[in-house]
Amino acid sequence: MVNTVVKKVYVLDGGELELDASVMVSLNRPGERIRIPVQYFLVETTRGFVLVDTGNDPDVIDDAEGTWGIPLAQAATPIMEKRNHPLEQIKLVGLDASDIKMVVYTHLHHDHCGGARFFPDALHVVQKAEYRWVFAPDRFTTFPYVKTDYNHPNFNWNLAEGDWCILPGVHLISTPGHTPGHQSIALWDVPDIGSVILTGDAVNCCENIATDTPGGITSDATSAVMSMHRLTALANVMDASMLVSHDMGSFAPLPKAPEPLTRLSDEAKAFYKRGIETVYQGISDPGNLI
Ligand SMILES: [Zn+2]
Repeated sequence: MVNTVVKKVYVLDGGELELDASVMVSLNRPGERIRIPVQYFLVETTRGFVLVDTGNDPDVIDDAEGTWGIPLAQAATPIMEKRNHPLEQIKLVGLDASDIKMVVYTHLHHDHCGGARFFPDALHVVQKAEYRWVFAPDRFTTFPYVKTDYNHPNFNWNLAEGDWCILPGVHLISTPGHTPGHQSIALWDVPDIGSVILTGDAVNCCENIATDTPGGITSDATSAVMSMHRLTALANVMDASMLVSHDMGSFAPLPKAPEPLTRLSDEAKAFYKRGIETVYQGISDPGNLI
């Protein structure tokens, strides 16, 4: 058992994006528009409340093209209402911005840090590799970054370098590939629900793992696959559930704030086992290696 500060986890509903299916699974069903959830998380700890990601900039509710620019708004069209605003989501649990002590970002794409500006007094945690990258990215990776989301030089940024335990029971897991500084967040031994890995976009949907195929947007596709393998192996060793970022089938049945997560379905717990079989071909148990 891990000594953890985590008391509860809430799933926050940031609305949806409509985009090409091949963005979720590389080269899969190109030309087919699908809707995906934008979710983020509120973690209640004995040290205060922590947000993991902040969803879209709610300005897109009234003017997506003006907020994101026409190409991004048309490629990833937001379907968002006022209730999906991060301040409205935390209000469901009786909180306001001043209650949020820390915001941890999986990465700085538009659908993960668009609400950052509503938490100016929090500690903002992101991988150093990601923070550096967004100010001088390779051109082909610029599309999902919106500078107004993260360009807050007066924020109290804490730049993590690789794996890091930020609180007892809360570990940052370096999972580059979707972006250079992508990270996932492991919550060990959460009361009632056990260990949970919030994958971020290291795993968009269960199909990425089942077919051992990364999403269509990567800075380094091979690293993205290795990061998926790392997470599945870690989940297997730690008997952890994985909450993937943009899978409607996984997201829909989860209780949403103000209800905390109280249990995860067997499917949510076991889906990655298929990935283990695909990748490790039956030798996920080290006892079977020789
Ligand atoms: Zn995303």
